[in-house]
Amino acid sequence: MYKDILVIHTGGTISMQENEEGSVVPGETNPLSIQTETLSSIANIQVIEAFHLPSPHITPRHMLMLKDIIEEHYKKKAFDGVVITHGTDTLEETAYFLDLTVALPISIVVTGAMRSSNEIGYEGLYNLISAVRVACEDASKENGVLVVLNDEIHSAKNVTKTHTSNVSTFQSPQYGPIGIVTKGDIFFHHHPTSREKYSICDVTKRVTLIKAYAGMDSGLLLAIRDLQYDGVIIEALGQGNLPPETVEGIQQLIQSNIPVVLVSRCFNGIAQGVYGYEGGGRNLKELGVIFSHGLNGQKASIKLMVALSKTNKLSEIEKIFTI
Ligand code: ASP
Repeated sequence: MYKDILVIHTGGTISMQENEEGSVVPGETNPLSIQTETLSSIANIQVIEAFHLPSPHITPRHMLMLKDIIEEHYKKKAFDGVVITHGTDTLEETAYFLDLTVALPISIVVTGAMRSSNEIGYEGLYNLISAVRVACEDASKENGVLVVLNDEIHSAKNVTKTHTSNVSTFQSPQYGPIGIVTKGDIFFHHHPTSREKYSICDVTKRVTLIKAYAGMDSGLLLAIRDLQYDGVIIEALGQGNLPPETVEGIQQLIQSNIPVVLVSRCFNGIAQGVYGYEGGGRNLKELGVIFSHGLNGQKASIKLMVALSKTNKLSEIEKIFTI
């Protein structure tokens, strides 16, 4: 029995072409639209052209629209899985947003490509076929939102784009892929240990993301307070430390009930309150800074935005970040 798979195209290089000047651009039509027949030998396919956007143009509003499209279609007629094609630049953010917010008994797989449709070595159609095959697997429903490219299956929570141009760009630092795609089969070898879901209907909160560096001071932190952002993520140094000159800004933000969430700018490991010196992680924790348990900066931003649409209580937001 063929599975019912909804394919949602959103744009990105997977749907683009290189023009005569060598620029990669979105064309009038999506080159993947004519491939529906190819996919029909794997599953019953329904295709939706949601957007035709490069992924740097994708906003949380588009992510929410995708969630609504999936839920509305499911309400009309249940299906087994959904495959989303997406630009690779912000693919991990959309995948993680859907992981946190869509609570349906289906598989959700996100894919993309590093080479555009008329370039030699275009891997878009191959990745799309792999993504549909993974979406057809019953086991995929248990593993949260999945990212499938280059014969690997990654969890939305851990995957990140690690290379500007290489087709093996998507990696899960520290954890590795949770499965692989082979010519004949799909194999899972790990399962995510926790799942979390938040029921939200808007994404109006403004969250910003900044990176710490030697010599950083409080200037930008005070500007963030004055600009009335709803939350801030800081990619801190090492195990979760900041230069002492930032402490004043951190205190001002927390006094203004603006959550400050710390991740590490190291791409392996977990930020935690270890050091007790001024600006050290333990000192920051005592000031009310929230530690994010291993998410990268862009994922923590998505989680904070989702958390803020449920509550603005710092203690509750902190609890959400312990999951
Ligand atoms: N800049 C492109 C995008 O994210 C890159 C890609 O799709 O690979 O839309």
